[in-house]
Amino acid sequence: MQIEKKHLRVPLVDLGAQYNTIGGEVEAAITSVLHASDFILGAQVQLFEEEFARYCESQYAIGVDSGLSGLELILRAYGVGPGDEVITAANTFIATALAISHAGARPVLVDCDPQTYTLDIARVEAAITSRTKAIMPVHLYGQPVDMDPLLEIARARGLVVIEDACQSHGARYNGRRAGSLGDAAAFSFYPGKNLGAYGDGGMVVTNDERLADTLRVMRNYGQREKYHHITQGFNRRLDTLQAAVLRTKLPYLDGWNAARRQHARLYNQLLEVDGVTLPEEAGYAESVWHLYVIRVANRDALKTHLASQGISAGVHYPIPIHLQPAYQELGYARGDFPVSETYAEQIISLPMYAECTPEMIEQVAEAVREFVQAGVLQ
Ligand SMILES: *Cc1c(COP(=O)(O)O)cnc(C)c1O
Repeated sequence: MQIEKKHLRVPLVDLGAQYNTIGGEVEAAITSVLHASDFILGAQVQLFEEEFARYCESQYAIGVDSGLSGLELILRAYGVGPGDEVITAANTFIATALAISHAGARPVLVDCDPQTYTLDIARVEAAITSRTKAIMPVHLYGQPVDMDPLLEIARARGLVVIEDACQSHGARYNGRRAGSLGDAAAFSFYPGKNLGAYGDGGMVVTNDERLADTLRVMRNYGQREKYHHITQGFNRRLDTLQAAVLRTKLPYLDGWNAARRQHARLYNQLLEVDGVTLPEEAGYAESVWHLYVIRVANRDALKTHLASQGISAGVHYPIPIHLQPAYQELGYARGDFPVSETYAEQIISLPMYAECTPEMIEQVAEAVREFVQAGVLQ
């Protein structure tokens, strides 16, 4: 395959491109924390919690050290533990399942919907047992799960609903923000997320005042007052430097998400060809396109073809949870979640970040079309 030199290099994500637009502001925010020296649960943490809660149209936000921590602590705070089951998606990132296991409970997997790639609500009811305590829907790739029917099932059975909102900062479901839809939600600020820190970070968002209070104690060694430990808590606090970085970035988030939506529209126009299955935004959803995922036959060959043209693509995720060596203990087998399994072989994530240019997207789309059309002619 010939490498054409006129081509731009197109990474999957480009954190440096974002830094070039806001670096000065971020550095000033970091310097102000250094001067204040309030590194642990400093003023910036509380301010960011207030701002992020408002952004999510929710009452409370509690800063934690990662998305995984947030999910696990919510489960523990709701008393979910050994002997309990929590329902989640088979095609999610490993952290969703780990949060459930780390709390001591058992992940019970459900296949994904073939159109939206999120939890197949029609299959949830059959997965509920007398041990089920919670459902953990994942707003995968930035698109909210169809929450109203899910909440209806959960409410009828007295189950807690915890949103894994780690890929959906700012997304909307029937006009409402992701994170404000269930009993509680966890967000991740891993650097590559739509709102990313310069290190690890996470946030729990909820309207449940008691949960918020419990989590503030749990994340901080089980103390409300220094050295007075009312529970055996954890050290899972959001770092003050990261909170300062995130406060600086939050006002830009809606603009960045709007740019991602525009990029997705352009991809959809340019990739409407035989051999490519495009992602679909559900009628209830305003996706924030954390990832732009298409499906093709010969996915691995397409990835290699793109790489030869200087284009980085990803696969989110190549192995469903039940086929991971880490989760053999669950006792599932190949064939148990056919949609997730088939899609794991076909999905490919194309470059997607706010600072992508239309020229880059045209170049990526051109390379994808070239590949699938060559395949069709074979
Ligand atoms: C990123 C992510 C997480 C975990 O977030 P961390 O901050 O890396 O712990 C959990 N669930 C999903 C779906 C994610 O994409």
